[in-house]
Amino acid sequence: MNKDCIFCRIVSGELPSETIYRDDEVIAFRDIHPQAPTHVLIIPREHIPAPADICAEHQSLIGRLVYVACDLAKSEGISESGYRLIVCSGPDSGQEVPHLHFHLIGGHRLGKLV
Ligand code: 5GP
Ligand code: ZN
Repeated sequence: MNKDCIFCRIVSGELPSETIYRDDEVIAFRDIHPQAPTHVLIIPREHIPAPADICAEHQSLIGRLVYVACDLAKSEGISESGYRLIVCSGPDSGQEVPHLHFHLIGGHRLGKLV
């Protein structure tokens, strides 16, 4: 828990969110500024700042995050139509919130990647 981190404060329940999934390692909630009909953020409860900070002990957690994201794509009804699972790391990526998160984005035809 990092008290200065928005996503840690969402994990703790201190800040509200439209949470659609939670387990002992992972939570998922709707992005406050959705870029598509479905825009969900899937995050670890643990404060890992960015993909650059992932280490060997996080391997199963990362697998869980990806599994939950793909499962949510099914429950959101976008698994067949298609979606993107995006993760940003560091300044050049435009990462704004320094707590590891996967964006699950879909529900309409998406534009070019960059
Ligand atoms: P990044 O640019 O770091 O990859 O993405 C951060 C995302 O978090 C953005 O899409 C932004 O809209 C979302 N976001 C920022 N603050 C909040 C918040 O307080 N609640 C929710 N639900 N999403 C947030
Ligand atoms: Zn955090």
